[in-house]
Amino acid sequence: SDALRGTGALFTPQLFVGGAWRDAAGGRTFAVTDPADGSELAQVADATVEDARAALDAAVAAQEEWGRTAPRERSEVLRRAFEAIVARTDELALLMSLEMGKPVAEAKGEVAYGAEFFRWFAEEAVRIAGRWMPAPAGGSRLVTIKKPVGPVLLVTPWNFPLAMGTRKIGPAVAAGCTMVLKPAEQTPLTSLALARIMQEAGLPDGVLNVVTTSEAPAVSEALQADARLRKVSFTGSTEVGRILVRQSADRLQRVSMELGGNAPFLVFDDADLDAAVEGAMVAKMRNMGEACTSANRFLVHAAVADDFAARLAERMSSLVVGRGQDDGVQVGPLIDDDAVRSVGELVEDAVAGGARVLAGATRIDGPGHFYPPTVLVDVPASARLAAEEIFGPVAPVTTFTDEDEAVRLANDTDYGLASYAYTRDLARALRLAERLDHGMVGINTGLLSNPAAPFGGVKASGFGREGGFEGIEEYLETTYVSLPAG
Ligand code: ADP
Repeated sequence: SDALRGTGALFTPQLFVGGAWRDAAGGRTFAVTDPADGSELAQVADATVEDARAALDAAVAAQEEWGRTAPRERSEVLRRAFEAIVARTDELALLMSLEMGKPVAEAKGEVAYGAEFFRWFAEEAVRIAGRWMPAPAGGSRLVTIKKPVGPVLLVTPWNFPLAMGTRKIGPAVAAGCTMVLKPAEQTPLTSLALARIMQEAGLPDGVLNVVTTSEAPAVSEALQADARLRKVSFTGSTEVGRILVRQSADRLQRVSMELGGNAPFLVFDDADLDAAVEGAMVAKMRNMGEACTSANRFLVHAAVADDFAARLAERMSSLVVGRGQDDGVQVGPLIDDDAVRSVGELVEDAVAGGARVLAGATRIDGPGHFYPPTVLVDVPASARLAAEEIFGPVAPVTTFTDEDEAVRLANDTDYGLASYAYTRDLARALRLAERLDHGMVGINTGLLSNPAAPFGGVKASGFGREGGFEGIEEYLETTYVSLPAG
């Protein structure tokens, strides 16, 4: 489509299997649309189960040789791909903004963030090592070797089309795994562009295979039923994560699950309130609230709650909502109509329960899937949005009176991904770090994501870590070798 001019012909709308671009069986395709107006951006190949099996065949065929390559070789592929992504920041950002909706400026931030996973794992690829230790009783020597897990299935969501790919592909490449990537059907174009970049960066044929499909459940089920697949790494909803974990049981595949969240954002009465509002804007509004780390519940000390909520409402009301490609736009459309409906229903439910609207909450007419930045106060504990992931630009504010209550409320959720706290009391900050039952705790910051840090959750937010020193371990197996003392 015309809209794609400016993306520099970054992608081929076909399946990427064994290093070749090809159509889906029967020439099937599906449409990718622009969430700002519903118009069609492109038709991409719609893989059948047979096509997906062919992609796994290619990954299996490439595994042995790829697993034996020199670490430096794998590192250099990632390093070149990192540089290629950075060099194409403008085109990739535009492509992501078009298929996902986020403002171009934010998409550029994602390009930088996404690329960093390749730089980080280029550096980790050459630091894979085992150990040598004498057995406690003496005699034998205990040696470990790290080996790639084997062919992996990577299933990614639509909210960060580039970074969710690089965060999985980076460590898989570094570890020496081959893979089948199944991107979200809403945002396959960025993944196709990424595959082309990897190919140009010298990734051998068959190491990365990309299968775009409108039939994610059937494709995953078929690949997971195949004994040659050794691992599944998934980012998406808790509901789908449960299905994939269940499907992994028959073949006992390893799994990494990066699932939903319900992040508490705590503001204590000793907090720097300016900084807390600033951090709240980032934690809430990054990606229009469509992030699993998005602040879902603002828990504010009663002494500062009115002040905090008023300032937050002022900032939220002043945000410019519109097409992600238009100048000055800060908030793009949500991904689809269902998202707008679900966010609207959560707000209506809270209001019916007694919540007051300080900003937003009105439907935006016209084409596109827009929802206004919204602030709610006096939100009842029974409101659905206290328990469910909002995944949109809505900030519910409730109060607490002491630290114990704050911690109890913060932990009172099935989820356990991100949490945030603003306080100037160092001892309290240290206590919170230990007491918050979440995989990540941000102290006086609204932004946790960092390729050098282990990202991941506990409880219904899943298990496994992406990024950091931990990230590559998800793609490695340990072989223990017993040697004589000599
Ligand atoms: P969201 O609600 O954010 O779209 P989903 O969990 O539905 O999150 O989707 C995340 C990814 O999981 C997407 O790539 C989607 O195609 C895929 N997916 C959805 N349902 C299934 C399923 N039953 N099996 C495998 N993958 C699935």
